[in-house]
Amino acid sequence: MRVGIGIDSHRLVEGRKLILGLVEIPFERGLAGHSDGDVLSHAIADALLGAAGLGDIGQHFPDNDPAWCGASGTVFFSRILELLREKGYRPASVDAVVILERPKLAPHREAMRQALAAALGIPQDCVNIKAKTAEGLGEIGHGQAAAAHAIAIIELL
Ligand code: MG
Repeated sequence: MRVGIGIDSHRLVEGRKLILGLVEIPFERGLAGHSDGDVLSHAIADALLGAAGLGDIGQHFPDNDPAWCGASGTVFFSRILELLREKGYRPASVDAVVILERPKLAPHREAMRQALAAALGIPQDCVNIKAKTAEGLGEIGHGQAAAAHAIAIIELL
């Protein structure tokens, strides 16, 4: 078994959909980014790559490459699963924290777990998602950004 860590943050802006954990969440703003801005998926993707000693998503999916413009986390995950498989590993479990002032994520937590578990090919109870606010502090607390932290465990095939 090996473990990896990942973090990500993106600005919350008008005119974008809010996608978190592969799920579209109704809100008046969304996360900016070259891809779909899904901070939760990006943190998990980095944790998986880190666990396998495979660098980070910036190396594999450069944000100046038009191929990844608007890309969904599902695209990143399917490529990362291939890379893990080539090294003889598969995902085992993921734990993550999303830090976001609004909207409340609790109503969407199970949908995110289900979508992430399906994308990673692991049981839903092997994906845990926690949601925190920043208690009004800083840019996240002022609703200008969101962040996510994740750890992933991978195991031998
Ligand atoms: Mg990102």
